[in-house]
Amino acid sequence: MITQIQLTESLSDLAAQVLSGRQLTPQEALELLAVPDDQLLELLNAAFLIRRHYYGKQVKLNYLVNAKSGLCPEDCKYCSQAKGATSTIEKYSLLSSDEMVARAEHAVRNGASTCCLVISGRGPSKREVQTVADATREIKQRWPGLKICACLGILQDGQADQLRAAGVDRYNHNLNTAEDHYQEICSTHTYKQRVETVQAAKTAGISPCSGLIVGMQETPTQLVSALFALRDVQADSIPINFLVPIVGTALAATAHPLTPQYCLKVLCVARFVCPTVEIRCSAGREKHLRTLQPLSLYPANSWFVSDYLTTPGQAEEMDHQMIRDAGFEIEAIPEHLSFPDGAACVSSTACCGGSE
Ligand code: SF4
Repeated sequence: MITQIQLTESLSDLAAQVLSGRQLTPQEALELLAVPDDQLLELLNAAFLIRRHYYGKQVKLNYLVNAKSGLCPEDCKYCSQAKGATSTIEKYSLLSSDEMVARAEHAVRNGASTCCLVISGRGPSKREVQTVADATREIKQRWPGLKICACLGILQDGQADQLRAAGVDRYNHNLNTAEDHYQEICSTHTYKQRVETVQAAKTAGISPCSGLIVGMQETPTQLVSALFALRDVQADSIPINFLVPIVGTALAATAHPLTPQYCLKVLCVARFVCPTVEIRCSAGREKHLRTLQPLSLYPANSWFVSDYLTTPGQAEEMDHQMIRDAGFEIEAIPEHLSFPDGAACVSSTACCGGSE
């Protein structure tokens, strides 16, 4: 029988092999996902060896701007903005460029180094791409260090180039789940279209961000398959969402129950499968990890702060406190040092030296 010390050593050895360039197999990923709960700390420690090698103890914060909410013709079963969803959410058409810039300032003031401009819908119209491009130019002029991630849906020819020319750094389009599970969660567009949009962003020179949603009745094999697909599309950033079963969505009644331990294992496996990339513990962190949220920082190097698209997060101060208490540091962005009105950033001293 394997002892605790042997287990720690074997997982640490595996981490060392990954750091030497060995790629995990899907079978090994499945075995890591099945590590018993009472051996979770050993798995977290091993994942942290990889995370620390590439990212030290830095935590990158992302801030979401919901620039167009609801009214979507697509039928993604997890989404409160989908056609057919009866969820009670705010619905509004595209914000103006000025409104997006104003909201981006919240990102800066809360220590986020990336601001995500997100719109609902199948894909952006010409006007929507133009408005996001205008907002990006203005944001970049005011806060050159703030990275912009656009999440506008399926892109048509030329749209990725237009966004790149405006200064968009990153484009998010999640694969969400395994290819052989995709038709179970959406019928109005295909997995292939999602892959093509991630590739279009990459081809245009925009850093691809693509992740998944855990808890949509996928099998462990399908979850692992989705992680390997994210590796194959060469996503630079992988948001791992844990399904929030919003009342009124098609999946609300049948969502998999998720435990904090399972969520942490998923993050660890993601770190082993995609060792060098940004792994973000995303939506559902507060609900599913609960008091274990800080442990997510051992495999993941990124969090969202503040609210999600249609569900509330927790207070930014609480996020900052958790990060500091766990001994991690918020990624520094020098351009945050000054504000037009002289106000200080509320983030940690590690970020900008501002007062708490
Ligand atoms: S995930 Fe996006 S495309 Fe799907 S229903 Fe929601 S807003 Fe529409």
